[in-house]
Amino acid sequence: MSDDIIRRDPRAEWIARNRLHPLHEAMKQAGAAAEVRGPSGLIRRNPHAVGFIGPNGIKRIDRLNGNAQSTAGRRAAAKTVELPLHRVETPDYYIAVVPDLVGGRLTAHDKDVLGQAHQLIAQLGGAGAVVAICFGESREDSFDKAGVDRLMQFSDASFDGYSPEARVTALQNVEKSLSPKFWLFPDSIAGGFEIGCRLAARLDERPLTQAWQVGLESSICRGAGGSSDITRATERILLLAQECANPIDETRHEVLPLEAVEVTAVTARVQDLGQVSVDPNSIALAEAEFILSAGNGVHDWDNFHRAATLLGATEGGSRVVVDDGHMPRFRQVGASGTWVTARVYIAVGISGAVQHLQGIGQCDKVIAVNTDVSCDMVKRAALSVIDDSNEVLTELMKLVAEYRQQEVTDAA
Ligand SMILES: Cc1cc2nc3c(=O)[nH]c(=O)nc-3n(C[C@H](O)[C@H](O)[C@H](O)COP(=O)(O)OP(=O)(O)OC[C@H]3O[C@@H](n4cnc5c(N)ncnc54)[C@H](O)[C@@H]3O)c2cc1C
Repeated sequence: MSDDIIRRDPRAEWIARNRLHPLHEAMKQAGAAAEVRGPSGLIRRNPHAVGFIGPNGIKRIDRLNGNAQSTAGRRAAAKTVELPLHRVETPDYYIAVVPDLVGGRLTAHDKDVLGQAHQLIAQLGGAGAVVAICFGESREDSFDKAGVDRLMQFSDASFDGYSPEARVTALQNVEKSLSPKFWLFPDSIAGGFEIGCRLAARLDERPLTQAWQVGLESSICRGAGGSSDITRATERILLLAQECANPIDETRHEVLPLEAVEVTAVTARVQDLGQVSVDPNSIALAEAEFILSAGNGVHDWDNFHRAATLLGATEGGSRVVVDDGHMPRFRQVGASGTWVTARVYIAVGISGAVQHLQGIGQCDKVIAVNTDVSCDMVKRAALSVIDDSNEVLTELMKLVAEYRQQEVTDAA
């Protein structure tokens, strides 16, 4: 990948700005950036970081390559931030977390639940360890940064796809071998709610649902479709709402493997016949996992629709394109349209007005395609492509076609 491409590390930038962060000093020294890209996207010069103190104590400024060095330093700093390792050598007890792992990766909701597990350990005291129990194929490579101390992976084919009976039997066996102090599930439609309820029924315990403020004695849960709060005694099985706790972001964890417990063959009454391909545009926008969204910066609509079809993405749009009649009203994303929760949201030619950003607040990864490097969508995005929307979409379609062709050739 070319070094000319500016890649921002929002986390490293945030640590460098946040004087209270434990890694602030290390980051500041490593970064000591003479040039930083400010929140508006403009390059800001820090005159205090330019130069060095000479042997006689006088500051010297090397005008030939001072900035070059510091930019390199900043890049190096962004790469070398290493979080302190949190170790639990011999756990006194376990807190079990069963993440949804949609597509084999931790969701933002899973990370909140792992954060909650560590909050419980902080309240309980002692050497508690968070054990993540995962089913099926995992593609996650950042369990350590999400707070997983121990990992138990069930990768047998019987746990693939929709297999609630096998999974609950496995969890029941984990209960027998580890006796976790708490069982934590994301209260989600991606599996957490169902598995959590099934486990509670098996163990003959009452789960706490939609919990978002958890204490050892009592917890607050959302009720009445999220319009009111109910305070209940804390149970051992917790189905947690999104944003119940901050995800882990200041420590690394060991992710030591725990051997999966034995599970004898389970007679499954539910049979998973596999996924059925559907027209992405028939998926409700609020439930779509992958959205290609158009704004006023899209000028070739045929090309946009072609790209959405080829990528298998659900189409969305800003209010301007809906008002202009390019898309039906139900495709509008934003405060006065639909609030979306996609794992990937590609915003093509959308400026990022506050009403639009409100609607994509829950999206995991936002990618911006825009000609304006300083627009708010670029600031919100995890990845930005600064170029004409039409050219980017055309190039993207070419790459996808090549990739698929390569797959066919490799399979032959
Ligand atoms: C009460 C109220 C409610 C609203 N609710 C919503 C809502 O729910 N959803 C919503 O979206 N808006 C809503 N709006 C409107 C909102 O304020 C913005 O006007 C709207 O989001 C702007 O849409 P846009 O980004 O597509 O267009 P613009 O603001 O015109 O932005 C176009 C973008 O495309 C880029 N661009 C231009 N040409 C190209 C090119 N060739 N290639 C790539 N990029 C290019 C530009 O740099 C710019 O960033 C609401 C407004 C009000 C007052």
